[in-house]
Amino acid sequence: MRRVSIFGATGSIGQNTIDLIARHPDAYQVVALTGGRNIAQLARDARALRAEVAVTCHEDLLGDLKAALEGSGIEAAAGETAMQEAAARPADWVMSAIVGAAGLRPGLSALSQGATLALANKESMVCAGALMNATADASGATILPVDSEHSAVFQALVGEDMDAVERVIITASGGAFRDWSHEEMARATPEQAATHPNWDMGQRITIDSASLFNKAMELIETHEFFRIAPDRIETVIHPESMIHALVGFSDGALMAHLGPPDMRHAIGYALHWPDRKALPVDRLDLVALGQFTFREADPARYPALRLAREVMETGGLSGAVFNAAKEVAMDAFIDGRIGFLDMAGVVEEVLGRDKGHIDAEIALDNVLAADHFARQEASTVIAAMAQNR
Ligand code: NAD
Ligand code: MG
Repeated sequence: MRRVSIFGATGSIGQNTIDLIARHPDAYQVVALTGGRNIAQLARDARALRAEVAVTCHEDLLGDLKAALEGSGIEAAAGETAMQEAAARPADWVMSAIVGAAGLRPGLSALSQGATLALANKESMVCAGALMNATADASGATILPVDSEHSAVFQALVGEDMDAVERVIITASGGAFRDWSHEEMARATPEQAATHPNWDMGQRITIDSASLFNKAMELIETHEFFRIAPDRIETVIHPESMIHALVGFSDGALMAHLGPPDMRHAIGYALHWPDRKALPVDRLDLVALGQFTFREADPARYPALRLAREVMETGGLSGAVFNAAKEVAMDAFIDGRIGFLDMAGVVEEVLGRDKGHIDAEIALDNVLAADHFARQEASTVIAAMAQNR
């Protein structure tokens, strides 16, 4: 039996992971499940999967979790330290599906103990790609991409020589506002931004899809994960979301990865890797689809893409600053303190203000310091913006 843990088990990726694991109860021994405020879901899944331990990141919910697990023999724990302890428990395969920079430390713990880390939490690659890679190298752990685009690239690269890779093209759906004018986007509400045309995902990544901050993070993720130069990474708007990525080789061939927009494909590929096993996803009917379309991802329309290029060129800890500023800007957008288009302005301003953090050595303490600095600066920028609104 494979020992598996799922960080962020109650979220969209977590639930899709559980859907796959629950189909084969004899194949997996579930070690830890972690979640947030949805205690009922966390307890239900912990019981169904007979997990060893269930952890909520909210200390005040320990009593609720204990009550929900009473009589099950499953350990209940809460808070940051408990999350770290759960992450350090030996497991063969770990799903990293917490949203935001909060996913970094648990992922590093899993890598340190040598687990195969299925990485949905792209923020860890954006904040600290070099640290993630170095931690995996030191323990002999493997990181497998779970973002659909990166899983697509990974699959297109099987058996290929990296020296023959000329370019990687990451597709973007364009998100909720791909056909909206600049003026309409300026007035967009959080509810409108949190509705995705093709994918059913968590609230934050859906809003990031509308601003293309999700794509911006994915460009950085591609750079960090595959160690491909920024000028070889392209993005194109592909509204149908059926082609997830393409890899161009030195002989002119372009290998595309196609599939329905269902994250259980990328999760399942990482779960069964290096094998391929049957997965319960729809099969594409190409005749019914008829055609695929593409259009330019205009950096003038999507400043997030330009900022991602800046981060890749600057390197160091600029990704940690970029990500933290973006997380705080999104909180402010969700709370109605700033507008949709202001989020990119906040990130750009904070990146410009950084003094010293970006050039520090890529170690966990420095990543956390850069993250902390960016959150404070972003709050100041947002307060000024909100006053002038
Ligand atoms: P979600 O909001 O649905 O779920 C997030 C999970 O993280 C929940 O279990 C929540 O309880 C937990 N969580 C939130 N804040 C936390 C904190 N501070 N500490 C500990 N746990 C916390 O998000 P999601 O859509 O499942 O996305 C998860 C990750 O996967 C993100 O990094 C996202 O970018 C990435 N991703 C998601 C999809 C998708 O289809 N949903 C696709 C590609 C990549
Ligand atoms: Mg993606």
